[in-house]
Amino acid sequence: MRDLVTTLDLGPLLLRGGEKLPDLDDFEAAFAALSERPEGAAVVRQIEDRIERYFRGVQLPRTATIYDFLVLSLRSKDVLVTFNWDPLLYDALARNRAVPVPRAFFLHGCVRIGYCHEHHAAGPQGETCAICGVRRANVPLLYPGRKNYSAHAFIRGEWEGAKRALADAQTVTVFGYGAPASDADAVQLLQDSWFARSRREFEHMEVVDTAEGEVLERRWRRFTPTRHFRAFATFDQTSIARWPRRSCEAQLAAMSRGVPAANFPLFATTDLLSLQAEAAGIAAHEAQR
Ligand SMILES: [Zn+2]
Repeated sequence: MRDLVTTLDLGPLLLRGGEKLPDLDDFEAAFAALSERPEGAAVVRQIEDRIERYFRGVQLPRTATIYDFLVLSLRSKDVLVTFNWDPLLYDALARNRAVPVPRAFFLHGCVRIGYCHEHHAAGPQGETCAICGVRRANVPLLYPGRKNYSAHAFIRGEWEGAKRALADAQTVTVFGYGAPASDADAVQLLQDSWFARSRREFEHMEVVDTAEGEVLERRWRRFTPTRHFRAFATFDQTSIARWPRRSCEAQLAAMSRGVPAANFPLFATTDLLSLQAEAAGIAAHEAQR
């Protein structure tokens, strides 16, 4: 978000939209201010178009990326929750479907997803609904100041799914999400679900972020009253990476029986097919459960 204004050259548009905008380095604040002014509507639409076009063009390379490692290291019982509009996670899930992968919830929408309001069915953007044959509508991308999570059926469903999953989760791993002030409502909703109806005795949380450990601990303290909190600078230190598709089992073995599990990370490769083959080898032992 910090680089969005420069990357997409949004500065002139933001300025044209109105007088005395806040710090242009902070797109969220500037865009929120602009959205609140009726005369900013046309510029707002232009900015949205530019952002949508840009993110639609973003693509994964053919080689294995951290997105592939992430989705192949999780099972279909796991869940991914993202605030990102970009299509990288969506595309990684699509290209690794030969192995059972988790489902993802896009809480702020995604440029790859379309939605049929008539049949409440989501699918690839630009394609037609499998039931009525009508082209699916684009889902909205939620912007600062307009975070009404219940206004759109698709977004509402994504939030409901994410909240259900959080309530049942044993461990939450957060990747580079800073819980900004502009997302206070979102963070509160996630926190409420994390503590709702749960039978878990400990809150296990892992954070992948390059910020100072102390800063991270403070930021996420309200999610971890039992202090089972670990911060890492890189993905390969997380439980997901150390015990792909078995992270919860490895944690439980240590917690309930005092048996530490040996690490068995996926082989560090850029070859997507061999990565998929390795994950499929682990997944073969998950059948019919
Ligand atoms: Zn339909």
